[in-house]
Amino acid sequence: MDVRPFWLAGRPATGDGELTVTNSHDGRTVGVCSVPTPDQVEEAVAAADAVRKEAAALPIHVRAEALAHVSRRLAERADEIAHLIMEENGKPLFWARGEVGRAVSTFRFAAEETRRLSGEAMRLDTEPAATGRLAYVSRVPYGPILAITPFNFPLNLVAHKVAPAIAAGAPVIVKPAPATPLSALLLGEILAETDLPAGMFSVLPVPNDRASTLVTDPRLPVVSFTGSGPVGYAIMDQVPRKHVTLELGGNAAAVVLADADLDWAASRVALFSNYQAGQSCIAVQRVIVEESVREEFLGKLVPAVEALVTGDPADEKTQVGPLVSVEAAERVEQWVNEAVASGARVLTGGTRDGATVTPTVLVDAPADAKVSCEEVFGPVMIVQTVSGPDEAFAAVNDSKYGLQAGVFTRNLDLAFRANRELEVGGVIIGDVPSYRADQMPYGGVKDSGIGREGIRSAIADYTYEKVMVLTGL
Ligand code: NAD
Repeated sequence: MDVRPFWLAGRPATGDGELTVTNSHDGRTVGVCSVPTPDQVEEAVAAADAVRKEAAALPIHVRAEALAHVSRRLAERADEIAHLIMEENGKPLFWARGEVGRAVSTFRFAAEETRRLSGEAMRLDTEPAATGRLAYVSRVPYGPILAITPFNFPLNLVAHKVAPAIAAGAPVIVKPAPATPLSALLLGEILAETDLPAGMFSVLPVPNDRASTLVTDPRLPVVSFTGSGPVGYAIMDQVPRKHVTLELGGNAAAVVLADADLDWAASRVALFSNYQAGQSCIAVQRVIVEESVREEFLGKLVPAVEALVTGDPADEKTQVGPLVSVEAAERVEQWVNEAVASGARVLTGGTRDGATVTPTVLVDAPADAKVSCEEVFGPVMIVQTVSGPDEAFAAVNDSKYGLQAGVFTRNLDLAFRANRELEVGGVIIGDVPSYRADQMPYGGVKDSGIGREGIRSAIADYTYEKVMVLTGL
């Protein structure tokens, strides 16, 4: 099998080791990529640092055209890329195609947003002492971005860091997840077709135990991390003076209130507890349902879960594929078994075959069971019953996480109340917490993270406001 090169300062390169990527459905090797040496990592950082000023001064049309090119090329190669994501991640083709489509949009939004980076003129003569003065406020990148990304969206979560970096005029070094580096490397191939200066981007599949060199390097002032809390907070502790953004985990809740459209709510909860085999930071994990509609809702939910097509991710009809590895599936199975041993009941699912866990619905899970209070990151939901909106909103907030929450209601007052009361980064009314449009601000509170993604928000995180005052006007 050909060894794929990584991208060092815009050029393909090979290093001293190899990383083998396997398909978790059948254990097949789907690709091998080269791993950079410490010297090559140093070369990439030095190149990013060297191009820092040139990148910040890049004309808007150059940045926007590069981003639009990437968007077009991803669209042209969508089928091939969807297969690659499916192979390396185990994500069913249906969802892999969706991810490519989202990355196409992410780069297109970034191209559009770049053209809006015009800065702002601010008259200062609102005060007598500032008569004759005008301020010009612009955004300046801190410098090269280190982008550390997880396995579950191996293309679009890389796009969410690379696209705003280019828009902001910042070089970027991507360190993809070891389980899924191939999509990021393919993105590197497309970036290499643009007119961006060499040094503007590198994609370095370095092993975790060598990544701290990148994290601590002072020439990379921004670390944009998406992944698990323990790793994210350890990174933050390592570099307290850097600009660190953390997009972390969650145990997202969907609230089903008595006035909800129960058919819609059941179908959405069923699908989005199990999409990507539950391996999404905003997959529905906790279903909080009002007592008066509980039985009717469960009567719709369980059949909807059982109707999901589970199996081979390469089959176009499959909705739920394997987890990223057999070990990950074994952990989920163990958490379900622990919950059952302490009183939970399985309404459906709860079994495992290799890396695949059947979509699982649990009721009566104790509050201190891992499936209730930790992030399952598997196709498992727990159903909790509440007396009404007050208890429902309190139950959502009874979590160390706070990424997004979904509230199924048709009552506008309750919608606004949910928005006021829920301690999360995003409240989705009339749908699951798993809803994300790639242009909107996205991120968490509490243990779900610090900072925001979404193109405009990420540009703000990667830059500082600089003011120039003109005198004597
Ligand atoms: P992870 O924390 O294991 O790994 C994330 C990245 O960090 C990978 O690239 C990994 O190689 C790297 N890493 C690990 N140890 C490191 C170290 N010591 N130094 C530097 N880098 C290191 O997470 P994962 O298993 O890949 O992804 C799943 C997690 O990501 C879940 O918790 C999920 O909720 C979270 N996630 C969050 C969001 C969000 O936007 N909030 C989106 C997707 C996933």
